[in-house]
Amino acid sequence: MIDTHIHSDTRGLEDLELMAMCLDGVITLAHDPYEMKSLEVWESHVEKLLKSEVDRANKVGLNLFICVGVHPRAIPPDLDEAILKIKEYITHNKVVGIGEIGLEKATKEEKNAFIKQLTLAEELNLPVVIHTPRRNKEEITKEILEEISTLNLKNKDIVIEHCNKQTTKMVIDEELYVGLTVQPGKLTPQEAVEIIKEYKDFSNKILLNSDSSSNASDVLAVPRTVLKMKLSNIDREVIYKVSHKNAVDLFGLTIF
Ligand SMILES: [Zn+2]
Repeated sequence: MIDTHIHSDTRGLEDLELMAMCLDGVITLAHDPYEMKSLEVWESHVEKLLKSEVDRANKVGLNLFICVGVHPRAIPPDLDEAILKIKEYITHNKVVGIGEIGLEKATKEEKNAFIKQLTLAEELNLPVVIHTPRRNKEEITKEILEEISTLNLKNKDIVIEHCNKQTTKMVIDEELYVGLTVQPGKLTPQEAVEIIKEYKDFSNKILLNSDSSSNASDVLAVPRTVLKMKLSNIDREVIYKVSHKNAVDLFGLTIF
């Protein structure tokens, strides 16, 4: 099992160990731990993922992969410099994609950062992970999908994160990947199961995650949802795809 979206830098070593006991791998993503008052603050955040988070994960045997990027709630003043830095960071052997990027309030500044990073992902042919907000989710997801289709990207390795029942349909229609986040305030395991049941014909486009962060989280959200799927008699092949195979294929993860 793979948890495709966590923020390991916000969790204690005990949690990382718990994940190591149950999961074959996790992806930790750049996010918004601080107000990015300068480029250096953002760099410190990303470099922490590349250095100390890899060390901490190794210590407890957690197979950790990383996505780097500028989160919409954490845009540094020198965005273009940050974009150049991303090009450097992706040469790190644990980096598997760009993220999380996206829109929170869909301001001009956010859209600029979003489009520049989508273009970069296209240029580098890397998977990209896109955040959608809790507030105005449908409306902003629509805007995100519009921006993507306007750019006419060849790269379809795009995950739209934190989908709910309503936005899943929109994302499936665009043939992009649906990220289902099982976390208090987002989806319950049962709600995720219902969505997977409804869209089982598109199970090669669905990914599961916990978004474990400084918000209330369930670090075992993926195994818990897998158990719920088994109890709901969901096809084993579907369970395997949404909890493991799709993530391994999309991000090219090396699993031992
Ligand atoms: Zn996140």
